[in-house]
Amino acid sequence: MRVALSISGSDPTGGAGIQADLQVFRTLGVHGAGVITALTIQDTEKVHQVLPVFPSVVLDQLRVLLADIRPHVVKIGMLATDDVARNVEIGLRGLDAVGKPAVPIVVDPVLAASDGTPLLERRAWGTLERLIGRSTLVTPNLAEVEALTGCDVSTREGVEAAGCALVSNLGAQAALVKGGHAEGPSDDLLVIREGGSSTLQWLEGPRIETGRVHGTGCALASAIAASLALGDDLVPAVEHGRRFVRKAIQAAEQAGKLARFLAYF
Ligand code: PLP
Repeated sequence: MRVALSISGSDPTGGAGIQADLQVFRTLGVHGAGVITALTIQDTEKVHQVLPVFPSVVLDQLRVLLADIRPHVVKIGMLATDDVARNVEIGLRGLDAVGKPAVPIVVDPVLAASDGTPLLERRAWGTLERLIGRSTLVTPNLAEVEALTGCDVSTREGVEAAGCALVSNLGAQAALVKGGHAEGPSDDLLVIREGGSSTLQWLEGPRIETGRVHGTGCALASAIAASLALGDDLVPAVEHGRRFVRKAIQAAEQAGKLARFLAYF
């Protein structure tokens, strides 16, 4: 059995957060393990409240879990606070067993919900950056990469500079900068560190016109993570994840008052 571990916040609607991650893992044939970092109170309209889990409880969940089960991939989403993020960092040391193959880590650097509610406090950004530095892949949207790197991402050159900064300055092995929130086509940029330099590849994505679709970022990072857990290399895993989410967006269905939820096959 292949195991993917999601370390993320709870979204009671099931459209995003750990509930979405686990649905994606199951759909793709991977067992989903989950460590919850925060509860949220939210509906399809907005996030009403964020309640971080006690940091020591986050660490205990990871410590006990990782002493027993070695996941084939770890996906990190919402971390809420610096104390929680630091305990995730400490807990992940349980993966560093000597002589074992490294476990790939996918970091979705969740900073805020679509309604603007912060899902990570500002003082946690340094810890998030260290987690990005440990990652196999980091998957920011344009707003997130702009916030984390300070690059102006209004041009393709700016997006390229920002993607390269995540790899060369922060130390991620690869970065997928998602263009879904841009005007026009939603092309993504994949930057991969190779030796001392980086390769850049624009991945075309025609814009799919739907209303507000909830949880696409969580689903993409989870689908890529599931592929990595199944043993795929990074580029095929990214391509697979993008295809999976595109199909899920095309089939999305209305849920609640305001959102459409991804439909998985
Ligand atoms: N709630 C949780 C727990 C999340 O992890 C996320 C996104 O990562 C959201 C809400 C926000 O989803 P959306 O950007 O669709 O509002």
